[in-house]
Amino acid sequence: VKKTGRKHAAGAAPVQQAAVLGAGIMGGGVAYQSASRGVPILMKDINEKALQLGLDEATKLLGGQLKRGRLDAAGVAKTLTMIRPTLSFGDIANVDLVVEAVVENVKVKQAVLAETEQHLKDGAILASNTSTISITELATALKKPENFCGMHFFNPVHKMPLVEVIRGEKTSDAAVARTVAYAQTLGKTPIVVNDCPGFLVNRVLFPYFGGFSLLLRDGGDFRRIDKVMEGFGWPMGPAYLLDVVGIDTAHHADAVMAAGFPDRMTHEGENAIDRLYSLERFGQKNARGFYAYA
Ligand code: NAD
Repeated sequence: VKKTGRKHAAGAAPVQQAAVLGAGIMGGGVAYQSASRGVPILMKDINEKALQLGLDEATKLLGGQLKRGRLDAAGVAKTLTMIRPTLSFGDIANVDLVVEAVVENVKVKQAVLAETEQHLKDGAILASNTSTISITELATALKKPENFCGMHFFNPVHKMPLVEVIRGEKTSDAAVARTVAYAQTLGKTPIVVNDCPGFLVNRVLFPYFGGFSLLLRDGGDFRRIDKVMEGFGWPMGPAYLLDVVGIDTAHHADAVMAAGFPDRMTHEGENAIDRLYSLERFGQKNARGFYAYA
């Protein structure tokens, strides 16, 4: 893990035009955040419905800003015009940095990244929001792996301050610098980390979820554990956090962590995440996880 510092962004030209691939939970959030911070962003998806959902989410968040008096109606309208939804590559040739936020699948991501690379101008940066896939592995699909790195936002993007900027084996210092600078423009706190399963945050978080699961196995009550962790000062306990992250997402990440660090991620049989996953209780996204949501 590399320590972060302002030095990482030194000398980087600011990102003036951005793009995001995928208008889902994360892509929609990145589009909103970029537009709110004054950086116009192209939002590309492969289906019209997804684009509309991404725009609806941004509109909802801007409505919240209007209600709180942080923006007026003209500000809301102006911000929305900075998100340009598209099903094609549109004017991606003018973009300085692209955040890839399509589905978490190596083959899909590699195909999308390789195709995108062909449309970019010289020196433009490609950054993947992958939670679990190796940046070095994704880079093997690219002609210019030096211009590629990870840019891992957390959900919900507009609320979570941290962004992990991940350096693959071939990532250049210039690509890291520009990505760090963009994260700072978005009002985020970037940290630069090396490429490994779970990067930094999930290496802390998943062993914690493992400890939580063992407590449940020993007869613990998840509601009580959540209350205890809130009392300890954390904004939410592990059960609620897993519901927010999504049990399906957590299930996948847990398997990646277990494969990457078998000695640290001991699993004896089914854990709580596996169990909820097999019951299709995916958390807030389908209104049932540890808790039930109306
Ligand atoms: P999602 O399923 O909500 O959205 C994915 C979007 O990508 C969909 O709208 C889909 O139509 C679109 N898409 C698929 N193929 C495409 C293509 N070829 N071109 C353009 N768009 C395409 O997924 P998500 O939760 O937003 O996750 C996206 C990425 O972010 C994943 O890599 C995930 O691991 C990562 N991530 C997710 C979270 C989270 O909590 N959800 C947190 C951090 C990182």
